[in-house]
Amino acid sequence: MLSRRQFLTSTLAAGVALVSQKATAQPAKRTIVDAQVHLWKTEEDWRVLGMKPQMPEPFTIEKLVPLMDQAGVDRVVVVPPGDRNDYALEAAKRYPNRFAVMGRIPLKNPQAAALLPKWKEQPGMLGVRLTDGAPDWFWSEAEKAGLPVMFLTAGRNAQLARVAERHPRLQVIADHMGVSADIIKEGRLADAISQTASLAKYSNVSVKLSAAPNYSSEAYPFRDFTPHIKRLFDAYGPKRCYWGTDITYGYEKATYKQRITHFTEELSFLSEEDKDWVMGKSILERLRWA
Ligand SMILES: [Zn+2]
Repeated sequence: MLSRRQFLTSTLAAGVALVSQKATAQPAKRTIVDAQVHLWKTEEDWRVLGMKPQMPEPFTIEKLVPLMDQAGVDRVVVVPPGDRNDYALEAAKRYPNRFAVMGRIPLKNPQAAALLPKWKEQPGMLGVRLTDGAPDWFWSEAEKAGLPVMFLTAGRNAQLARVAERHPRLQVIADHMGVSADIIKEGRLADAISQTASLAKYSNVSVKLSAAPNYSSEAYPFRDFTPHIKRLFDAYGPKRCYWGTDITYGYEKATYKQRITHFTEELSFLSEEDKDWVMGKSILERLRWA
């Protein structure tokens, strides 16, 4: 998207005589980027890691694109559910301006370390997503290769703190506010949020304020989560917070549009500029997604 200055420059350069006052006063459309969606073609993509598919039917590229168009979502970070990245990379190949991938890596395979220096040579690949811990070599290699890592932190905050401290050039992104279904079930939500907030002291840690509707015990606008989202936003600031849906988990809890307006209309502590960052600019910058 062009800034006003770029717009003026390019317009003038193109030889257009004048831009009317009215036209330049139009605010730029906010870029909306969903920091996490799973796509899959077959159940096997889930079962390979011993998980049940999050929806009865596959959630495909063909299903997601019209949903994005309808809701006004510009881009999506695709996270493969299982151990394969091919379908996610196919999405990025077909729609390079709309999809990019935080891929899975086979940590148990000793060859995996050799994949990291060339990881981003895969078109559309931006980094790695982990759902379990990782051995030390992984963190060092990811740091060396400049790969951001999304990390399902729930219950692993101590590991995350240690990694953030030992690898100051590594960008680690805590998933879903550090919350999981188990944490909710066990009544440890407030404690989990506190722990995630405490990690904000590491400048290389940032957080996905994602999946709130999926974990909320209320209907839209999920007010039980407002203080938790605010707490993390206050700790991390707009440039280290990312909106996201993980929409296939708790799909029926909210429409795609509601998941957006939850942030853009219902969180009064966010300024319009904050929303520009949280809804898209921050994650694009963090993942260096041009
Ligand atoms: Zn998920």
